[in-house]
Order: sequence, then C-alpha cells, then structure tokens
Amino acid sequence: MTLRKIATVGHPVLRERSRELTREELLQPDTQAFIDDLIETMHDANGAGLAAPQIYVPIRIIAMEVKKNPRYPYKPDIPLTVLVNPVLEPLTDETFDNYEGCLSVPNLRGVAPRFTQLRVTALDRHGNTIEQTVRGLTAGTYQHECDHLDGLLFLDRVRDTKTLATWADFERFHMAAFVERATALVARYGS
Ligand code: ZN
Repeated sequence: MTLRKIATVGHPVLRERSRELTREELLQPDTQAFIDDLIETMHDANGAGLAAPQIYVPIRIIAMEVKKNPRYPYKPDIPLTVLVNPVLEPLTDETFDNYEGCLSVPNLRGVAPRFTQLRVTALDRHGNTIEQTVRGLTAGTYQHECDHLDGLLFLDRVRDTKTLATWADFERFHMAAFVERATALVARYGS
C-alpha cells in the first residue's frame, strides 16, 4: 500500500465529474490496490472519508470510516465503507446545518445544509450491490463525499459565508453550539 498525496482546493481534478467504473474494472488488481491506498491515505490523514478524485484519480469511488475520530470527536462511528458508483436519493426535504471540513480544503470549516435521510445505492469493492438508508450526521458525511465525485466541495454548499472558520476558531467560537445541535440529531436518528 502507498500513501497518496491529497489534492487541495484550486486543483482542477477536484472540479471535474469523476467517471463510473465497470464491474470488470473494479475487480482488476490495480483498482483493488488503488482502493487500499485510498483507505490508507484516509486513515493517515484522520479523515472521516476520502473520495478518489482527492488523490488525483477521477473515478467514482469513496471510502468512509469514523472510529473515535480526533478531527470530528462528536461524529458517530461509521464502519469502514467503500462505495463504487454511489447514487444518493434524499428521502425527505428536511435538512440540517452541518459544520464541515475537508482534507482538500486545509484549515477551513463552514456550515452546509445536508439532507437528514438518504437512500444509497452503490457497489461494494467486490462488485456486490449495496442498498442502505443513512440518517443524521452520517448522511451528511455521505453527501460530502459523493459531492466530490461531481466536482463539488463543501464550500459550494455553504449558504452563509460568515460561518467559515479556521479549525482553531471553529473550536473557540462555534464548536459548543454545533456539538449541541449534532448531539440532538444523533439522539434523534441514532447516527
Ligand atoms: Zn472533502
């Protein structure tokens, strides 16, 4: 496995639409090795998720995992999940205000509205079809990562640019209120 470099905001690879993979391509050893690199790079950077274009390969694969994450201590755990060609379908119009950060947008956070409930259809890394429903903060993480596959960053979703904050100022001025909201959301949805 190899740690990959992470693209940062301004690089065109983050702004293009990533392409779908066929099952055959997915099962090839080089694609499987790429997925191992994506996971290892996500772990090394303490990311809650990482999308393939963030490591300069514009294909529709995302990895997510949250296990007592020091970048996001209030996030409920997400088991290691790899989604290929994911499609998200909101199950409600209801949104919540998610304070997001991104490994491709160093030292900046901001509030992005995200749907509270989604249906997810995708392939797993072995080419099996996955269908699941995700809710709450976890649904926010899924939407953030899938946006990367369409060339979108959380910055594009921020409605009020006055919410933008460095990580230090997020902790100093915004974290307590957000954790209160996030805790209520997690209590409601269990995720
Ligand atoms: Zn991101």
